[in-house]
Amino acid sequence: MTPPPPRLENRLPPEDLLERDEHPLRELAWLLAASLFALAVLVLAAGVVARWLAPHLPFRHEVALAERLFDEAAPADPQARARHAALQALADRVAARMALPAGMQVRVTDDPSNFVNAYATLGGRIRVFHGLLRKLDSEEALAALLAHEIAHVKHRHVAASMGHGLAVALVLSVVAPEGAAQAAQGLLGGAAQLALLGYSRDNERLADEEALAVSMALYGHAGGMAQLFRVLPQADAPAGTAWLRSHPDTAERLARVRASGSLAPAPAALTPLPAALRELPPER
Ligand SMILES: [Zn+2]
Repeated sequence: MTPPPPRLENRLPPEDLLERDEHPLRELAWLLAASLFALAVLVLAAGVVARWLAPHLPFRHEVALAERLFDEAAPADPQARARHAALQALADRVAARMALPAGMQVRVTDDPSNFVNAYATLGGRIRVFHGLLRKLDSEEALAALLAHEIAHVKHRHVAASMGHGLAVALVLSVVAPEGAAQAAQGLLGGAAQLALLGYSRDNERLADEEALAVSMALYGHAGGMAQLFRVLPQADAPAGTAWLRSHPDTAERLARVRASGSLAPAPAALTPLPAALRELPPER
């Protein structure tokens, strides 16, 4: 088949040719929008890359950023100092059984809020809330809790769970420590210590396994872990939401300890908490 001959015609110019808005401001607006979009993509990409990079950076960068971000001043109140010392002494005993990488240290402090919770954050900092201390009545349970949080530090789960902002600040801190701390402070404000996204179930399981191993090594049984899981908020408790965002069902965790066959002695056989941790200031 031969193609039809081309149709030739004299087309009129489009009617709006002269009315088209070729205003330079319009072009500028497009240029601006495109640049902003490119910038947004760049920021997002930087965040993704930083989140991947954060857990691979040497731990000392995390420590340096934590030192710049957090108020590290020792408390003036002698009771608070005694609490810090008691927490740190137990954490050191626990950490000594955990084969932490060279140069990695944990620093434990307490927080007077009444949350039944504890968490690990940037640079090996661990905070335990008074609400949880009030419910734990044995050294074994506190040791299990500390071992669990120290495991999150040891395996760099903290660095891996940082939000984009904190991860970018950490990566920046390698080249410009001062600037990164300022940027992080500006970005995150006082919420920096809580700007973690929560750990995966696998990470939680690993931390529990380490806590079980430390309990066995220190005490020869897992009675403290069982007590810890009994006092942690249950899934149906409204007070439990903060913990449950980042931690799996406590019944499931308790069942795993039971399955390990290492529960052993009656609660009465457990060691009481040190006096400094039993005598807490009144609830706030
Ligand atoms: Zn955890």
